[in-house]
Order: sequence, then C-alpha cells, then structure tokens
Amino acid sequence: TGAARVLSGNDASSDVKEELKKRVEALGQKLPGFRPGLAIVQVGGREDSNVYIRMKLKNAEAIGINATHVKLPRSATEVEVLLKLNELNQDPNIHGIIVQMPPDSEHYINPHTITDAVNPEKDVDGLHTMNEGHVATGDLETGFLPCTPNGVMELIKRTGVKIAGSDAVVLGRSKIVGTPMSELLKWHHATVTVCHSKTKDLEQKAAAADILVVAIGRAEMVKESWIKPGAVVIDCGINSIDDPTKKSGKRLVGDVDYKGAAKRASWITPVPGGVGPMTVIMLMRNTVLAAEKMLERLLQP
Ligand code: NDP
Repeated sequence: TGAARVLSGNDASSDVKEELKKRVEALGQKLPGFRPGLAIVQVGGREDSNVYIRMKLKNAEAIGINATHVKLPRSATEVEVLLKLNELNQDPNIHGIIVQMPPDSEHYINPHTITDAVNPEKDVDGLHTMNEGHVATGDLETGFLPCTPNGVMELIKRTGVKIAGSDAVVLGRSKIVGTPMSELLKWHHATVTVCHSKTKDLEQKAAAADILVVAIGRAEMVKESWIKPGAVVIDCGINSIDDPTKKSGKRLVGDVDYKGAAKRASWITPVPGGVGPMTVIMLMRNTVLAAEKMLERLLQP
C-alpha cells in the first residue's frame, strides 16, 4: 500500500446521515406527523437493482424517510410506467420519486421519456431535463443535483484541496455520472477535461489531473502511471470480477487499480466504501430537501 490517504465514503455518508436525521426531526416539529416520502419505482427484478434498492430502503428507514418500493412486473409497458408516475406526481405524501434504472421489461421503455415524466420538483435523482439544464448553466441552487456527481463533490470538498483553478479530468461522459460531474467541477471553477471512448492519449490526459474522477465501467483500467503525484483520485466504478478466493467467486473493484494509484495519489476513494455510499446518501438529502421545500410552500400564509 502506498502513501495516499483513504477518502472514505462510509465516514462521509454517516456524517451526512446524522445531519439528515436532525432535519427530518425538525420537519416533524413544524408539522406533527410529517415525514418525507420517497417512492422507488422498479420495473422487473434485476438482481443488481434489488441490491441498490435494499440499500436505499435501509438508509431511508434510518433517517426517518417514508420510502415505498413500487414494483411493476416485467410485463409493464412504457405507458403503464407513465401512468404510475402520474399517480405518484399527484400524491401529496410523496416528495421524491426515482425510477431504478435500467428498467427490466419485456417491452422497450425509453429511459429519457421516463425520467422526464417525473415532476421536476420531485425529481430527487436530478435526471429530468429541466434539472440537468440548471446544472449545465451553473444554477446549482434551483433544482436537484444528480446523486453520484453530488456525492463526489462532497468527497472532494472533504479533502480540503482547492477546486477553483485546479485541473480536473473526468473519464466518462454518461448522463448520470460523467457529464454532470464535469459540469459541477466546472462551476466550482476547476478547468475540466472530459474524456471518453474516442479520446486519444487518455493516459497523458489523466496524468495531468490535480483531480481525477473516473466513471468508465472498465475494471481497474486506470494504472499508477496515469496518476499525477499528489492528485485526488475518485473512482466511481463498480465492477464485479472473478475471484476464486471468495466464497461468492466474485469481488467488486473500481475503474482504478487501487494499489497502484494509491502510491501516487494524495487521496483516493476505495471500492466499495467510496462513491457508492455517497450516492445513496445524496438521494436521501435530495428527498429531505424536496420535503422541506414542499412543507415551506404548504405553510406559506
Ligand atoms: P456508461 O457505460 O453509461 O458510460 C461509460 C463512459 O465511459 C462513456 O462515456 C464511455 O465513452 C466511457 N468509456 C468507456 N470505455 C472507455 C475507455 N476504454 N476509454 C475511455 N472512455 C471509456 O457508465 P456509467 O457512467 O453509468 O457508469 C460508470 C461506472 O460507474 C460503472 O462502473 C458504474 O457501475 C459506476 N456507477 C457507480 C455509481 C455509484 O453509485 N457509485 C452510480 C452509477 C454508475 P462513450 O461515451 O464514448 O461511449
């Protein structure tokens, strides 16, 4: 093991959890019996989705959020999902709605149609086009920030490293991680390079990063030589690889070769226990925020 300090998402998320418990308690004092409500919509029953949903339900319960698991069968069509979302949009006890992606249906379901059918004021995943637009143009206050990039920002802030003026490199440009990640870093005044599958000289670009965020879904692709000495390295990857020494025969690794990168980085996130728990707790924070906003509107004279 190398010199890097471990940037623990378990520690950071339990700090946020304590703060959220207090905020939920305060809401219950403003309006007795009031609790934030979260609906988690699942189409079908992918095993990885089941695991993520269990984590979300467990966190919600610990914080005092009323979470409902809304299950639709694999036979559900896009229209049926839209009807369910419409119902949840109208429900005054539901403050946050997420659809667990990807849907597992016998029919084609367009993910963009689904995310844009959630009322933007209940869009606690921050994936509605309107919320994306706020972030893209540097308004980080009005809407909801997407959970994984928002969790990464929390982790970077905990290092104390100055973001403004730093050179940040993001590997990946997906809708849920890479793209909003690069925008958040940009609006925190980093100078951002976004890399993807067509990028040339990927290693050299990564090696110029003061802050390197990796979200490519390629097990341990980022090696020691890709890391600038002293860099902050954030690994969003969750990859299951074969490991005959484990009872399950499998093991989770990130997109970064942890041992190698830790020799050069100043800070590095582990997998598991890094970005994963931050994603879940940011969903909880958005849900509490949605409930706070709703109650504010309700109690307005
Ligand atoms: P996607 O597959 O949607 O996107 C991957 C991105 O990486 C794309 O932009 C792709 O480029 C780029 N890419 C793929 N291969 C390479 C390569 N060899 N070189 C350079 N760029 C490459 O993945 P996600 O963004 O959804 O997820 C990324 C990782 O993060 C996954 O491991 C996923 O499991 C994990 N994840 C973790 C979460 C958490 O809570 N911790 C939440 C969400 C995801 P192009 O655009 O050109 O195709």
